[in-house]
Amino acid sequence: MPLVNTKEMFEKAYNGGYAIGAFNCNNMEIVQAITEAAKECNSPVILQVSAGARKYAKPVYLKKMVEAAVEDTGLPIVLHLDHGADFEMCKDCIDGGFTSVMIDASSKPFEENIEITRKVVEYAHAHKPYVTVEAELGTLAGIEDDVKVEHGHESYTKPEDVEEFVRRTGCDSLAIAIGTSHGAYKFKPEQCTRDENGVLCPPPLRFDILEEVSKRLPGFPIVLHGSSSVNQEYVKIINENGGDLKDAVGVPEKQLRQAAKLAVCKINIDSDLRLAMTAGIREHFNAHPEHFDPRQYVGDGRKYVKELVKHKITEVLGSVDKA
Ligand SMILES: [Zn+2]
Repeated sequence: MPLVNTKEMFEKAYNGGYAIGAFNCNNMEIVQAITEAAKECNSPVILQVSAGARKYAKPVYLKKMVEAAVEDTGLPIVLHLDHGADFEMCKDCIDGGFTSVMIDASSKPFEENIEITRKVVEYAHAHKPYVTVEAELGTLAGIEDDVKVEHGHESYTKPEDVEEFVRRTGCDSLAIAIGTSHGAYKFKPEQCTRDENGVLCPPPLRFDILEEVSKRLPGFPIVLHGSSSVNQEYVKIINENGGDLKDAVGVPEKQLRQAAKLAVCKINIDSDLRLAMTAGIREHFNAHPEHFDPRQYVGDGRKYVKELVKHKITEVLGSVDKA
């Protein structure tokens, strides 16, 4: 099976009440960890590449590694551009064999967002084979590579905008802002309460906005960015092995599971992979200070990422046996 776009994948996910995991990748071990986990769960999966990943690994390496994963697993896999900054970057990826792109013009005024998104959609849909396009309305707080928004400058998606936006752009899916956030420090401590262990509990997602959006766009796939949960077991391993991550906090998995049962068909997870990889490597070095073969410590990182992805597929996304 060649790389696929998101069309059929999202239709099945919408109707089946689950979501597809969109995992960021930038090296071989991460690609292997994600796709081997997906294979063991018989789950479809989206591998996504940010502008930062393109800079780090070069687009051609990423594309070939993802193709290798398709050949190795036989799974339906989407190669997706995460946060395409402009038409040129999207075009470059479409021409380079990506099967899906995101154009993120959400920081632009409404009309300009429509104009840029429509231009990408026209190009992507004319391409053979058809490339799917994700767009965004609303702004998330936090940091993801080149995308930085200060806390307090985020804005929730306005449900009254979504029908016009989707109709005029022709986009295939829409990322909305309902309180998720980029990075491993998604919320300031003062936005949160603390549980009995002193762990921060963030404000709940705005399910009222999600429901209003899906009422206005029946059957239309919704995307959540910034949806790592910053699993405290990994933060603990990192901090116990020389790390210093204070008050890192994410979106609770229960809320994401709930969103996946509704109109949310794609859930983006990046920080959680980074934390799992770092936990594996730090633990390895602490236990084996004499080691210097990258296969030993990166291999342990890969093992942790794989375990994490299996956990996400079974407990959060609900996409087991949907390949
Ligand atoms: Zn994002």
